[in-house]
Amino acid sequence: MSSYVKFFGTAGGRFSVFNQIRASGGIWVCIEDTNILVDPGPGSLLKLIEYGRSARELDAVFLSHRHLDHSADINSIIESMTSGGRNYHGAVLAPSDAWDSDPVILGYNRANYKNIRTYEGGWWQIGNIKISTPLKLVHTVENFAVCFQGKRHSIGYISDTLYFEPLKTVFANIDLLIINTVFIHSRGGIYHLSVDDIMPIISSVRPKRTVITHFSTEVLKAQPDKIASKLSENGDYVVAAYDGMELDLDEI
Ligand SMILES: [Zn+2]
Repeated sequence: MSSYVKFFGTAGGRFSVFNQIRASGGIWVCIEDTNILVDPGPGSLLKLIEYGRSARELDAVFLSHRHLDHSADINSIIESMTSGGRNYHGAVLAPSDAWDSDPVILGYNRANYKNIRTYEGGWWQIGNIKISTPLKLVHTVENFAVCFQGKRHSIGYISDTLYFEPLKTVFANIDLLIINTVFIHSRGGIYHLSVDDIMPIISSVRPKRTVITHFSTEVLKAQPDKIASKLSENGDYVVAAYDGMELDLDEI
């Protein structure tokens, strides 16, 4: 059974995403042959096709939160996952404000897949993956940290949030931590993590490997690879994602 993660995009922040300095097609999580697409931002469907993949392979789409850089292509992906609404197929997990208030998920196709509203403390079994949302993040819209747990592999993902102490204990014994690293230094009042913020999270969660992603132009200028090497200096294994990067979970 195959288990891997593939990055269809690594852009974060308005300029980087909406000028497509890096792509923003989301993260494909495959654990023990169950497939979930996470945060299909602008260009996601095209990226899947470019890499020879099909949304019909998906068992679910997981949306961390409804900001456009994470959700812009969600309807195209749903349409493709359900064969244009002809086949009932898959599930979509998203916070309730993505469904109900100023929804980013269109209503007309909702009968063609399982609708799941995520909440703090929730969990759902999708194929071989247990998806849980243990912590509500501090962002301008509803947003949850998520854990994808198979029999042999586990992945934690922290998207956009202000730094706060519970992030240090949100996951235990995970193989891979994916963490959105938008800035170099914390900026007051901006609800995104910086390199400074993620250091204490990584050294407390201690995953086998950490991938930083969702880069603004500021981080790209500073070279994500160099940042990852610096973060690896005290024994943690941190890598910087690039568009198209695939990690085999059996090799972690
Ligand atoms: Zn956001």
